[in-house]
Amino acid sequence: MSSAVGVCSSCLRNRREALEIAMDLHRRYRSGLELPLQPPRGGGTRCTLCVNECDIGSGGVGYCGLWTNRGGRLEILEGFNRGILYAYLDPLPTNCVATPVCPAARGCRNPMYSVSSGGPEYGYYNLAVFFAGCNLDCIFCQNWDHKNIVVSPRLRRRYAVTDVELVKRAAEDDRITCVCYFGGDPGPHIVYALRVSRLIAEESRRRGVVKRICWETNGLENPSIVREMARVSLETGGIVKIDWKAFTPEVYQALTGVDGWRAVERVQKNISIVAEMSLGRREVPLLTVSILLVPGYVDEVELRGMAEYIASVDREIPVVLLAFHPDHLLRDLPPTSANHAGKAIEIFRSCGVERVFLGNEWLLGPYY
Ligand code: SF4
Ligand code: SF4
Ligand code: SF4
Repeated sequence: MSSAVGVCSSCLRNRREALEIAMDLHRRYRSGLELPLQPPRGGGTRCTLCVNECDIGSGGVGYCGLWTNRGGRLEILEGFNRGILYAYLDPLPTNCVATPVCPAARGCRNPMYSVSSGGPEYGYYNLAVFFAGCNLDCIFCQNWDHKNIVVSPRLRRRYAVTDVELVKRAAEDDRITCVCYFGGDPGPHIVYALRVSRLIAEESRRRGVVKRICWETNGLENPSIVREMARVSLETGGIVKIDWKAFTPEVYQALTGVDGWRAVERVQKNISIVAEMSLGRREVPLLTVSILLVPGYVDEVELRGMAEYIASVDREIPVVLLAFHPDHLLRDLPPTSANHAGKAIEIFRSCGVERVFLGNEWLLGPYY
């Protein structure tokens, strides 16, 4: 058990008062940043981009800190044509979460999806687009610094990139064969990200070059938005990578700060939507699900719940189990142990999931 969380997974699942104790960590952290302690309710202007469905009062901001109510109109802080982001070139093959199934690492016979028919795309790049801001408050976040950008007007301006600039950068460089949105999370920036993606896809189609569009997300977007994200990835050979935090609502909420009941329902729905869309493209899976093996919290109960759900949707959905390392607000736990990872693989296989992979294996050790 982490003393920062204050309660164990079993108490979270079985004792009503446990979640309230765990939420204290989120409240303390977010009040230090002056971010809303919970998604605002009853303010007047409702954002439906993600499961939080913030109802934002005049001059206030949503839970992600990015959307505001200006005179009854919902606006994103730096304007609709700007993303708050940092974009950089990452040589392929990169250590992307979907590497075990990705065309950049394995190649693909379909020339629309890869410049290599077998083996890695050496000499090419991923344009990594790191968005600041997130609609979750994960206590183990490895990129938590992005929230400091969101709350600082000076930093927001420094990291603001127009849609025209980003499209130009991605579309004009033929060494770039994939664009990956992550962060933070692309969810709160999705209006901008989808517009940019459609323009990049259109331009690469016109020129006959490979430009896969991929997403690394917590999967809490509005389902109609997820369909659009998946559609762009489907057409371009890209992958929607959904990171599922926990199965039990109480554990999900303790780890992420948001309503776990709504979030678990939403992530399951979005997984099933993308899985259904995947059926039209088997050579590159459209969907991967990643799961961080948080010691003591993402335990056998959580893993079995997620495994059974994924197997019930489609046994061929690739699942990537990731090793945890202490970071952000969760520094009093060890990295994931080899035992925990081994047990997790066993659980997924025993539930019928056919493609289970282990990411960042080098972090594993004999810790528990
Ligand atoms: S994107 Fe999500 S968290 Fe941000 S304001 Fe909209 S509903 Fe709230
Ligand atoms: S961004 Fe997409 S195509 Fe590129 S390395 Fe990652 S999963 Fe593969
Ligand atoms: S969803 Fe990802 S970026 Fe957002 S808080 Fe959680 S770990 Fe961090």
